[in-house]
Amino acid sequence: MRRPKRSGSPARKPSEVQLRPQAAAAVRRGHPWVWRQGIERGGQGLEAGAVVQLREAGGTLVGSGLWDPGSPIAVRVFGLGEERPSVEKVVERIERAIARRDAFVDGSRTNTYRLCHGEGDRVPGLVLDRYDHVVVAKLDGAHFTSWFDEVAEKLWPRLRERGIRSCVRRIHRDEDRSQGKIERVFGDEPPARITVLENGIRMVVDLAEGQKTGAFLDQRDNRDRVRRLAKGRRVLNLFSYAGGFSTAAALGGASHVTSVDIAHAAHKTAQASMRENGLDPAAHAFVTADAFAFLDNAKRRGESWDLIISDPPSFAPSEKALTRALGAYRKLHAACAAVLAEGGIVCASSCSSHVSPEIFLTTLDDGSLGRADLSVLEVHGAGADHPIVAGFPEGRYLKFVVLA
Ligand code: SAH
Repeated sequence: MRRPKRSGSPARKPSEVQLRPQAAAAVRRGHPWVWRQGIERGGQGLEAGAVVQLREAGGTLVGSGLWDPGSPIAVRVFGLGEERPSVEKVVERIERAIARRDAFVDGSRTNTYRLCHGEGDRVPGLVLDRYDHVVVAKLDGAHFTSWFDEVAEKLWPRLRERGIRSCVRRIHRDEDRSQGKIERVFGDEPPARITVLENGIRMVVDLAEGQKTGAFLDQRDNRDRVRRLAKGRRVLNLFSYAGGFSTAAALGGASHVTSVDIAHAAHKTAQASMRENGLDPAAHAFVTADAFAFLDNAKRRGESWDLIISDPPSFAPSEKALTRALGAYRKLHAACAAVLAEGGIVCASSCSSHVSPEIFLTTLDDGSLGRADLSVLEVHGAGADHPIVAGFPEGRYLKFVVLA
């Protein structure tokens, strides 16, 4: 069994790092990252996962975190003041995160949701997604890699108590993925595909080859919204992936659903999901195409839809790419508006953390849309299993705007 690359046991005896004033203020507000330029002094030679104590110029202890020598994010913060990270504390936080979900998730209708949302649950770098009896762990950043084995070992009995039968790790992009994108960590060998339940909808998830941890669980509540808006409408789902919005729309009584994605394989999963819900995929259209080209052609042919969902991949992978990304969102939204029928609804989404909700709305103003009859009815984000830390604006990455 392959394991995350680790460079021995991480240094658990803290080293001292001095922060610049702005970085110290951000940490106090709850920001979980210290950028490399926020470090005034210290950190040289520390390995990934080493515990560091964060001090201000005067020597006051601000908090503590885990060091990452290779990333622009030098420290992931794990505690304020005297609090220091330990395996026990990390496990405790994960358990608290899991327990929080109990109040929000109705187990009879939903058995797939995020158990731990990294920064949002105060466990920077660790995502745990539940797909019925399988938990998929996704590690973001070298700081957590050397901690993962010990944390997972302590957590595993607690997961089993909750009916989890296998815990797998998502293999990082930089690692060898020739054997697939997941590896078993504890419990049974996971299935390559699994059918889960989301708000009463059966959803086929490709655990072995899918994107993210298999599905985009952050859109759960928004898929439910689409279900409620779809009755009697002709629906266009752009960037449809495994057809979550498409299946929801069809179950909600859409008269016809067109799903567009550039990845052909995703449509097979979408069709399987429709069948699982007693729907006939042959009654709907699945188009393998670039969404921009599809919209251009549709406009030329004079086609239109009553409900359009647009959920593209992140157009802004970095702050620098922001201007170009906003241009792409504007172009996309104008093209959607051009094929929206009279009285139609647009659901425009963005998952880029560099695009704030306020900025995203500017890509949906009258000038961007090229028409002045659409108003914003609702602005949503992700569900409660994707919590937000108020002092961490980057965490508000998901936007879902409903216009009509
Ligand atoms: N709405 C989906 C998630 C979308 S993820 C859900 O709720 O599950 C983004 C999808 O966009 C991916 O499936 C990817 O294959 C697709 N994609 C990326 N670039 C595209 C393009 N130019 N045209 C069409 N689809 C594209």
